[in-house]
Amino acid sequence: MIQNFDYAEGPGSAPGSGPRPARPGLSGLSPDELETLVAAWGEPAYRARQLFSWVHGGRARSFAEMSNLPLGLRETLAVRAVLDTLTILERRKARDGTTKYLFRLSDGETVEAVWIPAPGRRTVCLSSQVGCAIGCRFCATGWGGLVRNLTAAEIVDQVRLIARDTGQRPTNLVFMGMGEPLANYGNVRRAMELLHAPAGFGIGWRHHTLSTSGIVPGIRRLAGERLPITLAVSLHAADDETRSMLVPVNRRWPISELLKACREYVACTGRRISFEYVLIRGVNDTRRDARRLAGLLAGILSHVNLIPLNRVPEVGWEAPPPARQREFARLLEEAGLSVTLRQERGGEIEAACGQLRRRYAPAPSGVGV
Ligand code: SF4
Repeated sequence: MIQNFDYAEGPGSAPGSGPRPARPGLSGLSPDELETLVAAWGEPAYRARQLFSWVHGGRARSFAEMSNLPLGLRETLAVRAVLDTLTILERRKARDGTTKYLFRLSDGETVEAVWIPAPGRRTVCLSSQVGCAIGCRFCATGWGGLVRNLTAAEIVDQVRLIARDTGQRPTNLVFMGMGEPLANYGNVRRAMELLHAPAGFGIGWRHHTLSTSGIVPGIRRLAGERLPITLAVSLHAADDETRSMLVPVNRRWPISELLKACREYVACTGRRISFEYVLIRGVNDTRRDARRLAGLLAGILSHVNLIPLNRVPEVGWEAPPPARQREFARLLEEAGLSVTLRQERGGEIEAACGQLRRRYAPAPSGVGV
């Protein structure tokens, strides 16, 4: 069942926009907002620039370490502001270096993020919400529904804390963790802007990927911003009946409407869309499915990511055998589509969305297939 959600969620709007701490999380504030903050304490504008680079570029774990700020300002910050809105509760590292982080938020909720090192790139997979209202059938996060949106600071802090923990700067961001980013549009957009800022992490727009389950008005809103980011659309099926079962938001915005918005997105941005397709044995992996999918995407500037299902123990579904996966990819390629068959990474650390968090917040009974 689809819960109510607001695709156009902005900062501070209900439901569940996150705790409203009396003390602001500094990592969610723009340089201008920091300037206003320190000006209220009688500090000049350049202190805000110093503070921004400490928060976003430095490895400081406390205000006390911000050595070029006057002692009085450091003491004020310690009382009136928050440096880290998250703490690392657990980290699990796979043999390939993929590391899953479980963070605790100030209200006791938990979210996950994943560090994915690879030759030439270091990616952080970010969460945008605590839980998720979309309820995809194969996803542990969706089982418990939406708890609340993350604030911009809580999104940025996933990157900051991972960079500090690994001692490495991320090069790429993907919003593919817990939550539907377009249902928390304002906070996600603000976090992207802050992570893009040259005085901070400076992650170029082309290195941002935002994944959506298919929130059509959100896709149109993003298209209007004409950012050269990569939009990833979780398609997962080539017919409405199967897709509505896998991704219930399809009942609100069926495939034809979703693909119409995708065409508009390509026309507005000139960027190709990445279509995600989780391969599930006996559900969406037949030759007919492949041919239908090829037909749907014909003429759309796109790339297809085939993702063999990362098995979730509570769900009976599994990935098709490798030979079938390769055949599915081959059929799409023969139809002229650009295709990647993704290798599973980090399976032994419960890297699938929401699996680690679920050990702290078990699925309700009756969930599964
Ligand atoms: S796959 Fe993504 S959109 Fe679907 S329920 Fe999980 S977190 Fe939400």
